[in-house]
Amino acid sequence: MFKDLYQTVFPKICYGCSSDLAKTETWLCTSCKTNLPLTHFHKYNSNPVTQIFNGRVPLVHASSFFYFVKESAVQHLLHALKYNNTPKLGTAIGEWYAEELIRDRAFESIDAIVPIPLHYSKQQKRGYNQSAMFAIGLTHLLKKPLDITSVIRNTATETQTQKSRMERWENVSDVFEINSAEKLTNKHILLVDDVITTGATLEACANKILNLAGTSISIATIAFAKI
Ligand SMILES: [Zn+2]
Repeated sequence: MFKDLYQTVFPKICYGCSSDLAKTETWLCTSCKTNLPLTHFHKYNSNPVTQIFNGRVPLVHASSFFYFVKESAVQHLLHALKYNNTPKLGTAIGEWYAEELIRDRAFESIDAIVPIPLHYSKQQKRGYNQSAMFAIGLTHLLKKPLDITSVIRNTATETQTQKSRMERWENVSDVFEINSAEKLTNKHILLVDDVITTGATLEACANKILNLAGTSISIATIAFAKI
């Protein structure tokens, strides 16, 4: 039983390429981990993620950890994080990213980290919010508080995949609600999500928070997908 538990916590197969992992490796083999397509966007005031929001939402800063490349280790990781009951993978990715962010002194002025909430029914089904697990990994190294209660999602949205930008916006524009304004007022919030494509979901959530006095927003996601 102990061995089974060990293999659940430290899987022996690389999530990127399915090769066997060495004892010192977790989630990814050394080759997959060193070849991850990092964006380094956090080093640049203007980057493809900040540009998504230009003229739409005022942001302090925005960045993504990886480029989303089809059939790559990044896609395999994200798929596992969503569908393989691997919440600890999200935390690990958050810690990997936080190492980069700390090294480059990015997002130093944030006050709290808020993951994009899932609708209650979806979170019940999956067992966890993958964006919250990523956020937890970030908090471990960035030493900023996690806030998973101040923003809630009141509507279960349909899948965004087959929708245009306008349809995506209509789909998400009113799904978020502020649950405790006093915890967000006068704070610089780092909003985090798993993948950014059109930015419609993050924009809707950011706008709700920005309605509160003294708030500002930065954004960080695991992956950036070109449309
Ligand atoms: Zn590998």
